[in-house]
Amino acid sequence: MISVGDALRAVLEATPVLGSERLLLGTASGRVAAEDVVSGRAVPAAANSAMDGFAVRGDDVRAAPSWLRLIGSAPAGTVLGAPVQPGTAAKIFTGSVVPDGADTVVRVEDTEEQDGMVVVRVPVRPGANVRLAGEDIEPGAVVVETGAVIGPADVGVLASVGRATVAVHRRPRVAILSTGAELVEVDETPGPGQVVNSNAYVLAAAVAEAGGEPAVLPIVRDRFEDIRDRLAEAATADVVLSTGGVSVGEFDFVKEALDALGVERRFWKVAQKPGKPLTFGTRGRGLFFGLPGNPVSALVCFAIYVRPALRRLGGHRHLHLPVVDATLETSVRKAAKLTEFVRVWLSMSGAGWSARPAASQSSGVLTSLGRGAGLLVGPAASDVLDAGARYPVLVLSPETLARDRPPAEFG
Ligand code: AMP
Ligand code: MG
Repeated sequence: MISVGDALRAVLEATPVLGSERLLLGTASGRVAAEDVVSGRAVPAAANSAMDGFAVRGDDVRAAPSWLRLIGSAPAGTVLGAPVQPGTAAKIFTGSVVPDGADTVVRVEDTEEQDGMVVVRVPVRPGANVRLAGEDIEPGAVVVETGAVIGPADVGVLASVGRATVAVHRRPRVAILSTGAELVEVDETPGPGQVVNSNAYVLAAAVAEAGGEPAVLPIVRDRFEDIRDRLAEAATADVVLSTGGVSVGEFDFVKEALDALGVERRFWKVAQKPGKPLTFGTRGRGLFFGLPGNPVSALVCFAIYVRPALRRLGGHRHLHLPVVDATLETSVRKAAKLTEFVRVWLSMSGAGWSARPAASQSSGVLTSLGRGAGLLVGPAASDVLDAGARYPVLVLSPETLARDRPPAEFG
């Protein structure tokens, strides 16, 4: 049996980064850049005004009042031909190019205009209210780096340097195959002994959250040939996730089916709870995860192993779930020699994060992985986790970390 750390390393060692595709800017937000984008331009392209007012020479307005002759007007989008000479001023607007000769803008509020003259009533610091060419972006600057998740501001920067398209990493295509003779679709009423195929929904949602494109295949019964054939069809995807049929039962055919397809087994069975029967293999660049059927085991294995792999495939730099250190509220007995992912509810108080164990640690109880849930990592060496001690907790939903209040500093 392999340890959790070794299993995770084995997965990541086998996981490539996918190639790129070129997207129009309007669809690039949330995707991972696959190129360093270098600006060919300065932004702003020319010195321009930060205010409505008058472009002047700094030397003319050090002392107040000063009287300047108005030589013209430069509304936004125009460039004044005539230079601003000593003793003159040009009317200017926010964003207008500062005319030649001028290096300072005086706010309209500090002036009066009469008979073709401008009176500047206050002393003005030379250079005031001018945004310099290249102040935001210099030509040759890298504005978006490979591996960056493109956000709204990045999209704006790309637009302002004239990039209508950007290369992003392809999203991993993930085939999801649920195995089990007991499974029925969500719109069927389960008969005796039947259960709804919830795993397919859980995994499709989790794949999408991790930046992948899920494709859910029809339920497959516990027959070796059927499982093998469906896995063979699924293998065109970047990643194949199956659930169920991976343990030691008489009807557990997933491992044999993967063997029959020539998938190289990297490990089977991890020293963990839940999710011990997890299997992982590769064929070419394709990754195959045989997840256990228990809904909790499947989702925990997804969070620990599959999610980081999908994020690496998609070019992300941050692969793993966020971790907080939390104080355990009540002691927990755990399986000796296994790393145990104890389901806890996280809450924040003045003393920091605390973790209350979920009432049921049964691997069938999916509600214990809902909002506010975390996975407290109980080390393999211990058989009891102590109340009051601090343990790392993987945060399953970023919502848990959100503090829903504006900063007091907002006033
Ligand atoms: P298995 O790993 O195939 O032995 O399944 C273990 C448990 O998980 C059984 O109770 C199954 O009914 C349940 N299970 C397996 N597959 C699914 C699924 N797709 N959706 C919900 N529960 C499942
Ligand atoms: Mg089964």
